Amino acid sequence: VTLAPEPPDSRWPIGVEAVGGLGEMGHHHAVVDLGEDSFLLDFGARFPGADEPGVDFIAPSVLPAVRRHQAGRLRALLLTHGHRDHIGAVGELLRALPELPVYGLPWTLALLRAQLRREEEAPRGLRAPDLRAVSWDTPLELGATRVRWLRVTHSIPQASSVVLESPAGIVIHSGDFRVQREPLLGQASDADAFRTLGERGVDLALLDSTNAALPGRTAGERDVARHLHERLLGTPGLAALTCFSTHLERVLAARDVAEALGRRLCVYGAGLEAGVDDAVALGLLPLKDGERLSVEEAMELPRDRVLMVIAGSQGEFRSALRRVASGEDGRLRFRDGDRLLWSARTVPGNERAVADLVNRCIEQGAEVAAPWERGALLHCSGHAHREEIAEWLSWVRPRWVLPVHGEPWHLRRNRTVLGELGWGEERVLDLRSGQRLRLDPAAARVERSSAEGPSPAVLVLGRQRWEAGEAALKRRRDGGRTGVATVLLPWDARAGRRRGSVELITAGVFADAARAGAEAEISRALETWIDGRGKTDEEALRLELRRRIRERTGSKVQCVARISAASVVESDML
Ligand SMILES: [Zn+2]
Ligand SMILES: [Zn+2]
Repeated sequence: VTLAPEPPDSRWPIGVEAVGGLGEMGHHHAVVDLGEDSFLLDFGARFPGADEPGVDFIAPSVLPAVRRHQAGRLRALLLTHGHRDHIGAVGELLRALPELPVYGLPWTLALLRAQLRREEEAPRGLRAPDLRAVSWDTPLELGATRVRWLRVTHSIPQASSVVLESPAGIVIHSGDFRVQREPLLGQASDADAFRTLGERGVDLALLDSTNAALPGRTAGERDVARHLHERLLGTPGLAALTCFSTHLERVLAARDVAEALGRRLCVYGAGLEAGVDDAVALGLLPLKDGERLSVEEAMELPRDRVLMVIAGSQGEFRSALRRVASGEDGRLRFRDGDRLLWSARTVPGNERAVADLVNRCIEQGAEVAAPWERGALLHCSGHAHREEIAEWLSWVRPRWVLPVHGEPWHLRRNRTVLGELGWGEERVLDLRSGQRLRLDPAAARVERSSAEGPSPAVLVLGRQRWEAGEAALKRRRDGGRTGVATVLLPWDARAGRRRGSVELITAGVFADAARAGAEAEISRALETWIDGRGKTDEEALRLELRRRIRERTGSKVQCVARISAASVVESDML
């Protein structure tokens, strides 16, 4: 990528460029400019929606990072935590900037390493990444900036807020967080460290907006564990629950429930098992040797002696739960008397896949608590509700707040909530992906600009990279809905006439038995139409093909027309 270096305006000590995750959910990424230093915060992936068929994931643009690199001011990528919406596209970034140092807590880097390894199985030319583990207590000096990670509670171990202290100003990114007073796993948020920081005078806080609109506080993991226990009590057969694979606190809750029910804990799912192994090795998850069984070991016990945590709560394509539910798993099938609890919310876009799983498990005989059922508290969010937001802000007391991590609805609600909490409008900033913010704390000046235009997100499709908004995506979408028809016309340009039969190829347009007949019939009709006109062009041919198919099928099918003009030599030979 070649770009003109574009150093941030030095009249502004603090700059923020929102690249992803503001005004959209997922692929979180922001650039913070402080004096002569620039930092990247997170580089996440977004899962494709139903209108993005065949897309593996959506990544933020690497261009803002590359521009800073070329200006010689890019210091590092700083990771707040290991969720995919924060680390899922790091591989894309490292392919553009292979030498960029990446800092994060050990568990975040363990998840990143596993992710990069998976990507390398389909080699995409990534060399050994420069991953550097940090700890909560040790600040780093990068350029003129001091960088620190502060402990918060979330739904994954080692979640952090990241603090940037520079002569230009102090900026903090909250990361994803909630304020759990008594987490089941790990420690509570480091309120003292946040308070000390607050006393130093924070200029700007980027604040997790996801659940600001929800009243009160998030429920505790201990409450969830109690409800899981109640719902699994008296299960005649296998007791099972499914949760996010990185939610180790939930795995620990399952261990406690298993113990209380006199059952053995089994963890099933390749990614989940590997994650649990890593976490035990890092001392993050207090599971003793032999405390968890493999699925083979578990299946040798009577079913009423086992509590299984099984991966695949989002209906993921290759997950253990999906295999079990579709009857393709050689080791497990649900039976009458089994009970399965969904201990996870459904990520928007996965609803249909999850409902399908729920139904299949029920058909096998399991009693299922589906994720959309209300009542029992089988899951709780990892994102702060209103009172937790107020608490975090009372520690940090930033001069300006920038709500991040959400669709326009979340960001707007966060602004309203902050207003209700006494934050004047001039202190609550409003930014969307693709926009830039500049602050001058000394002069109390703020400027928002989108002059550079948004850097488009990147669609990752196997080895291809498309820009968001790529027209081919619409064609793919339409083709998926109606099928595709392609017509090839051999044309003699000199003589101005057809030099052979029209060939029509359709895929997914007609029922199998009707296809050949329909193709032949429409081809002949097109030939008559072409011969009658004596001239044609690809667009006219495409529209005529579409009209004819529509007459027959009643739908607007995705059509492609190609005219192959014979060369002089070729037409002489004919
Ligand atoms: Zn997130
Ligand atoms: Zn998260």
